Amino acid sequence: MGAAKSRVLHRSLRETPPKAVGGDGVWLIAEDGKRVLDASGGAAVSCLGHQHPRVLEALSRQASKLAYAHTGFFSSEPAEALAEKIVGDEPGGLAYAYFVSGGSEAIEAGIKLARQYFIESGQPQRQRFIARRQSYHGNTLGALSAGGNAWRREPYAPLLSQAFSHVTPAFAYREKRDSESETDFVARLAAELEAEFQRLGPDTVAAFIAEPVVGATAGCAPAPEGYFRAVRDICNRHGALLILDEVMCGMGRTGTRHAWEQEGIAPDIQAIAKGLGGGYQPIGAMLASDRIIDTIRQGSGSFQHGHTYLAHPLACAAALEVQRVIDDENLLDRVKDLGGQLERRLTERFGNHRHVGDIRGRGLFQAIELVADRASREPFDPALKLNARIKAAAFERGLACYPAGGTADGRRGDHVLLAPPYISTSDDIDMIVDRLGQAVDAALKSIGH
Ligand code: PMP
Repeated sequence: MGAAKSRVLHRSLRETPPKAVGGDGVWLIAEDGKRVLDASGGAAVSCLGHQHPRVLEALSRQASKLAYAHTGFFSSEPAEALAEKIVGDEPGGLAYAYFVSGGSEAIEAGIKLARQYFIESGQPQRQRFIARRQSYHGNTLGALSAGGNAWRREPYAPLLSQAFSHVTPAFAYREKRDSESETDFVARLAAELEAEFQRLGPDTVAAFIAEPVVGATAGCAPAPEGYFRAVRDICNRHGALLILDEVMCGMGRTGTRHAWEQEGIAPDIQAIAKGLGGGYQPIGAMLASDRIIDTIRQGSGSFQHGHTYLAHPLACAAALEVQRVIDDENLLDRVKDLGGQLERRLTERFGNHRHVGDIRGRGLFQAIELVADRASREPFDPALKLNARIKAAAFERGLACYPAGGTADGRRGDHVLLAPPYISTSDDIDMIVDRLGQAVDAALKSIGH
């Protein structure tokens, strides 16, 4: 990190990060020529790595034809083709795509669509949303209201919507009692959700919102078996919608296009982003079921929402090619294989590590959680900033990994999240775990462990 003055408002107002000047597959290249292995794809974004020739070619083809046309006047070929590619005709399934510029916009659109659906289906009293503590749904005010991450919410609490309440997340490492079986844990969470519906009045709830595999705020935490079936049943029983946030865990990251496919359920509304465009353009999407859209089509006839850059042709062209490459190169199978390897290597390297309490995830979406004490699961003091130390030690060793944790709620712990590109090789995976191992040990040493 340099001290050079920058007019760009960076995350840190004290340090300017080095400039990235190039990319080459799984590698990012800094201005001093340093090559950094992109082990988290930024924040689980760069699923095809950097400078993929097919995506660059698709972008240039589209740019030479048309960069932008406002959706108030026109649709575009790439937007139509992308929607065809990612949604389908299954009865009751996700049938429509609303293309936005990122994850937060996708969540905002989902919340508003749910609300409008209930107004137009004659249930205007449904104005409550139930989400989960320790979840992240984005930083805009609606998405932040849905999120349950204490320190991100805290400064903005007076601005957040009171329409959202939060229940316990399905985060076994932190929430399951030792005396409880997984089945009992799921039953307890389901009972809590049911009680929350009853507390609010079941016919006032519009939707339940959750990430199938929690990303940034809990470090790749999948729900226990049966949890999402139980949640789906409760929503169905009370006539509420299920909104799934797959901004981070979706579009192949866990080995299936949608993470919910592994849960035996489907949502009514879904948010996707990062892996949709793989970082080649800013793009996200809200996907919605035919039931919802048909109701509004027969009612007011339009979704009362919008942005200037909806369905941006260049962004859709990039995402379309990213999705075609994933299919053409069978990358979902590769995610499953490499994900298995990553999990095995992490277990070999950290399974007996004194300060690694948990190794978890799905596919190429894996995390380790650092703890001061394995037996009590006591996190490190957030003031030690262990995450930041691991990130810096990894970067020094030519590895970019995504740190989370060490926050005001005091119990979240420190996680390191790995989300390598789907095009990684087996050697890349070994190198990631090797460099991460060295970085974790160096960071722990720097705080006297
Ligand atoms: N939902 C989830 C699950 C996310 O991980 C993120 C981003 N980390 C968002 C929403 C917000 O997406 P964006 O940063 O693109 O607005």
